[in-house]
This record gives sequence, C-alpha cells and structure tokens, in this order.
Amino acid sequence: MEKKIRNIHIIINPGSGKEKSILPVINTFMQAAGIRWEASITHKAGDAIRLTRTASRNKLDAIAVYGGDGTVTEVVNGLVGTEIPLIILPGGSANVIANELGIPWNLKEACALISQNPLRTRNIDVGQLNNRYFIAGISIGFGADLIKGAKREAKSKFGILAYFFSLFTAMQKLKLTIYHLKVDGVSHEVSGITCIVANAGNLGFTKVSLDKHIDICDGLLDIVIVRKADLKLLKLIAITLIKRRRPDNFELVKHLQGKEISISSNHKQIIQCDGEILENLPLHIKIVPGAIRVLIPGKYNKIIAQTSLEPNCQDKGIFFDSLNIS
Ligand SMILES: [Mg+2]
Repeated sequence: MEKKIRNIHIIINPGSGKEKSILPVINTFMQAAGIRWEASITHKAGDAIRLTRTASRNKLDAIAVYGGDGTVTEVVNGLVGTEIPLIILPGGSANVIANELGIPWNLKEACALISQNPLRTRNIDVGQLNNRYFIAGISIGFGADLIKGAKREAKSKFGILAYFFSLFTAMQKLKLTIYHLKVDGVSHEVSGITCIVANAGNLGFTKVSLDKHIDICDGLLDIVIVRKADLKLLKLIAITLIKRRRPDNFELVKHLQGKEISISSNHKQIIQCDGEILENLPLHIKIVPGAIRVLIPGKYNKIIAQTSLEPNCQDKGIFFDSLNIS
C-alpha cells in the first residue's frame, strides 16, 4: 500500500488546455485534501525536464504535471532514476498517456486520484532513444508526417481533428520504404509506408488503440509496420475507429515485439518521437522496464488477451499478463 500524499510539486505548462483557469481548481482541491503544493511554470521546450530535476531534489511525495504528452514526456525524462511517483493532470489535445492508464481528462477528477484511498500506482515502461526517454512511441515515415502536419495552433483549436486535416498532406508524401530492423538480435526486412515503435498503444482518441497487444507494463516495445496504403487500409482504419480496436490483418500490418531495436531504411525518412521531430535513421531503441511509477485510478484493470502476434512471426514467447492491480 502506498503512503498518503502530503507534499507535491506541480510542473505546469501554461500553454496547455483550452482557455480555462486551472489554478483555482487545483488550489481548492489541495486545500480540501490538506496537501502542501508548489508549482513551476514552463516557458519553452526543455523547461519541464530541468524543473523536474530541480524539484526532485526536495523531499516530495510526488511530482505532478499539468500539460499535454510533450510536457509529460519531459517530466518523465527528469524523473527516470528517481523513486518519485508521477501524477498526470491531462491538459493536452490528445493525452495519450492519460488515456492509456485510464486517467480522467477532467482536472477535478484527475486531482481526486491524489487522495483516493487506497492510492494506486503502476510502474510503467519507458523507451530509450540515445539519451532521451519516450513514453508513447516513435513513428517513421507516414506516421511521423501525420504528427508533424498537425500544427500546435490547429491542435489547440480543433483538438484531435487537427490530425485529420494533416492526413491529407501526409497522404501526398506517401513513399514505400524498405525498413531494415534488428529486433533482439534477429534481422527483419519489411517494406511499408510507416514503421511505428510503440510503448503505449493509445492513439489519442479515448480508448482507440493501435493494437490490442500493446501493453505499457510488459517490458516490451511493439513494432508495427503498415505495409501499404490502399482501400483495404482505409477500411482497416474505419473498423479500428468504429470498434475502437484494430482487428488483426497480417497482409496489411507486420507486428513484432522486442526489448532492443535498431532501424534503418533505404530512403531518408522523417521521424517523430513523442511528438517531437528528430534526427535521421538509423535509430537504436531500447526499453527501460517499469522506469516510472504513475498514480492511476483504482478501477484501472486492463486485461490483455493472450494471443500470438502473427502465425509466422518471431514469437518471443510473451505471456500477456493481465495487469491486475496489486
Ligand atoms: Mg509494451
């Protein structure tokens, strides 16, 4: 059982959220719950990492972050290696990590997790690319173009719809690429329009997952390569959105899992890592299992089906454990 939270530091991205004042909501909650809190405000990229590192030197029961996935990722980068639990107060347009863990988007409800009795936390994996950590994932090619095209202004105005506008531009840049992968020592060569390395499966729409096998606590990264863009793919996307879960389609999607992954390609490719556009291939990626402890709702009890990925794929003998809360 977790000890009660009495003293926290909140990293706030003031650019997040939709023109509502968050401080009165936070203050009212903290006062009622008897929690001592301090806050730091970010002004530019990188601030949240630095502020988290500074705050973590103090005696704290937890560090909270109010912001979107970008700010959450920065705070995670500042927290890895410490034992301090993370509280996520979602303030972005997609909030992938919050969705993945069942954390409510409503600020009052998210704050309420801090005083729930008993407290629930979950150790989640983070991915590591060179000296940076990521939580959601990396996409290469089409998937990265899609995220790059959804500009910040459009996202704060239209939310998740900004990605649909970006889809049109990204479709025009589609290019079939050969991806050379090394997954836990085994080589694979797969051609496709995008290669995604996912730690979290959530796509930003509540409960829509890139793949039902993706589990943020299983110590494995999931590699999903979309082989081609045609009508079948559009149908697959439509079914995924309607059913809120992607059905298996091995003709369209290649799926692998592993702990250490290298990727190179025959074409120069655009890459995004947790929303940030990055340097060139090759990429060397690995997983850091259970690196961050996050406060989660008590009712979170995601059960993952125990099924194999693909009949002919390199099966790592993964057992998809149910994520029972201990
Ligand atoms: Mg995983």
